[in-house]
Amino acid sequence: MIAVANQKGGVGKTTTAINLATALALQDKRVLLIDLDPQGNASTGLGIAYDGRDAGAYALIAEGAALDGLICDTAIESLHLVPADNELAGAEIELVDRERREYCLKQALDDDPRAQGYDFILIDCPPSLGLLTLNALIAAGSVLVPLQCEFFALEGVSQLIRTVDRVRRAFNPTLRMEGLVLTMFDRRNNLSELVAADARGFFGEQVFETVIPRNIRISEAQSHGKPAHLYDAKSSGAVAYAALADELLARLADKKAAR
Ligand code: ADP
Ligand code: MG
Repeated sequence: MIAVANQKGGVGKTTTAINLATALALQDKRVLLIDLDPQGNASTGLGIAYDGRDAGAYALIAEGAALDGLICDTAIESLHLVPADNELAGAEIELVDRERREYCLKQALDDDPRAQGYDFILIDCPPSLGLLTLNALIAAGSVLVPLQCEFFALEGVSQLIRTVDRVRRAFNPTLRMEGLVLTMFDRRNNLSELVAADARGFFGEQVFETVIPRNIRISEAQSHGKPAHLYDAKSSGAVAYAALADELLARLADKKAAR
């Protein structure tokens, strides 16, 4: 299970969650995407309209509802979605008084037989380090961090890394850093190159070699409720996310072989 997290908004979390999930599903992996952001952009981006949503991530995390009743099909056969439901915005406040409030998502998924049927579960986190993201970091085996190629990108990430360390010490000792993905890279902009070089200097091999370019087709696709692959499979964005999936699968295979 991979949490896609960065407390900054607009850095490409949802875009990465949608398009990486799609690329993995196209490689015959069974993939579940959980939309844990009350804004519900991952749900909309996969064609599940706001008013068409029934019970979703809120029912899962706050009520421990079974996945069976929450999962939506998408246009890609082996990609399923737990949408953000309309109550999710209230979850942060509602969970505060619960016992073991940080473990609600983990418990719901650990107990659910359908969760075992997926090769990958991706969680699209909200842009904060609140209780929803904390639940995702505790349920997940690893965290994937999209990093937008712009000023101050690295400062935000160091705060996230500290949070991940804290979660590891206090709640989830086996949480791994899956890696950092450079997003919205613009070749015509020197700043993109600078940020990329800085990130690689600082985080080394934790930064994926695959870089996601700024590509208008990606955001167009989202506004049509489609992953980039289904909107324009040849677009640089769709191709980059396919390469990211390849790289992720190769890395995971290497890790397995090293064990
Ligand atoms: P987050 O989930 O971190 O808030 P999003 O994935 O929603 O960020 O991205 C923010 C905005 O940038 C969205 O409008 C999205 O369509 C757009 N966007 C994301 N990645 C790209 C990209 N590689 N090229 C062009 N636009 C992008
Ligand atoms: Mg988002």
